[in-house]
Amino acid sequence: MNERIRISEIFGPTIQGEGPLIGRPTVFVRTGGCDYRCTWCDTLYAVLPAYRNEWALMTPADIMARVEELAGGNPVLVSLSGGNPAAAMAIPLRLRPKAAWLNHGLPNSIGWS
Ligand code: SF4
Repeated sequence: MNERIRISEIFGPTIQGEGPLIGRPTVFVRTGGCDYRCTWCDTLYAVLPAYRNEWALMTPADIMARVEELAGGNPVLVSLSGGNPAAAMAIPLRLRPKAAWLNHGLPNSIGWS
C-alpha cells in the first residue's frame, strides 16, 4: 500500500462531462506518464517525460486524502485518468477498502485519457 504513483494532477469536484455518469460531481485523478504517443492526445503534460518534474509521487493514501479534501465530505465520483491507463487501473483496487462511499468512474475502453 506504500507504493507511490506518479500523479499529474488531482482536481475537482467538477461536473463529469461525458459517459454514462455525465452530470455527476467528480474529482479527477490524473496519473503521470504514458507508453503511447497518440496523435490526438490532449494531455501531453501528463504523458511526456519532459513534464516529469511537475508530477507528484503519491501513495494511495496520499491520493485518497487529497480526494477527500477536495470532496469536502460530500460523495463524489472519482474519475481515474492519465497518463498511463494501466497505472491508473491499479489505483481503485488499492483505494477501494478505504473508499466505500466513493463511486469509481472507470472508462469502458482502453486508451482513455
Ligand atoms: S493513451 Fe491517452 S494519455 Fe496516452 S498518449 Fe494516448 S491519448 Fe494520451
